[in-house]
Amino acid sequence: MSAAFNGAKYCWMDGRVVETEKALVSAMEPIYLGIFEGIKAYTKDDIGGEGRLFVFSWDQHMDRLWRSAAIDGLKMPYSREELLEGLKVVVEANKFKSNIYIQPRIWPKAGEPEEVHVVIPVWKFNTLLPASNPEFSKSRRFMVSSWRRISSDALPPQAKSWANYANSNLAVREAKRCGYDSAIFLDSRGFVSEGTGACVMSVRDDKLITPPVTASILESVTRNLFLEFVPYDLGITTEVRDLTRAELYASDEAFLCGTGGEVTPITSVDDIQLGGEYPGPVTKRIADYYSEIIAGKVEKYSSRLTPL
Ligand code: PMP
Repeated sequence: MSAAFNGAKYCWMDGRVVETEKALVSAMEPIYLGIFEGIKAYTKDDIGGEGRLFVFSWDQHMDRLWRSAAIDGLKMPYSREELLEGLKVVVEANKFKSNIYIQPRIWPKAGEPEEVHVVIPVWKFNTLLPASNPEFSKSRRFMVSSWRRISSDALPPQAKSWANYANSNLAVREAKRCGYDSAIFLDSRGFVSEGTGACVMSVRDDKLITPPVTASILESVTRNLFLEFVPYDLGITTEVRDLTRAELYASDEAFLCGTGGEVTPITSVDDIQLGGEYPGPVTKRIADYYSEIIAGKVEKYSSRLTPL
């Protein structure tokens, strides 16, 4: 069993549960033309513990999956309800009782571009949340990548396509080679775009600033949620606008947000230490409130939790 699957004996493939090791396709399949989603299911109340799992923001992820399919010209052969049913069956087969990552993958069949394969692999993960988790406060040094983020007039970052991650991979490899943990992209205009798999949020003078969708970013489910609760529930002024590299360097705090990275504090960019306290107080406040939402403790967002 590949370590990458972290204990997932079964996955769902083209309508049925199969052993992950036997989920095979021909080497001739054009997998690089595919799209995917990255979704998480958490145990409610105690999000690091054991218990019944709830998918977080299922509807929002399905909206984006269908939009990615529309952009890339793929036809979804299953309904959202059928995918959710498939997910439930595969979670049951794996007997998962703690946090899982879910990665529906869709790609056209070789020689039959009208038809697609649909696979739902699932695997376990350890959450960084809440802010009191020691993992949350680990040092994370970023560099501004010498690679620019792919732009909408060439390969649209708004679709969650595998091909886009070749760009991310170049940036991650460069960052590791240079001794950093990861990278932040600028867009083709030179403004801050996004991380290699998450969105950028900068805190300056107690305001939260994040680049717009037109800065070559993926339309992030997490970013959209933060744009709702940060101003309205936490009372923190929030701006969606172009952010310069220099502004990022001079942030009081900065973090990445996304389904995978949740809230990932940034210690430094290009060896420039951000602000004083690490992780910063606004970052911690946002991370703690996000943890509460995921745990189903914030009534107005409880409909984002779908039981498995
Ligand atoms: N940007 C990129 C490039 C990503 O891969 C991700 C992770 N899906 C994000 C942003 C964050 O998106 P989300 O909040 O929907 O996970």
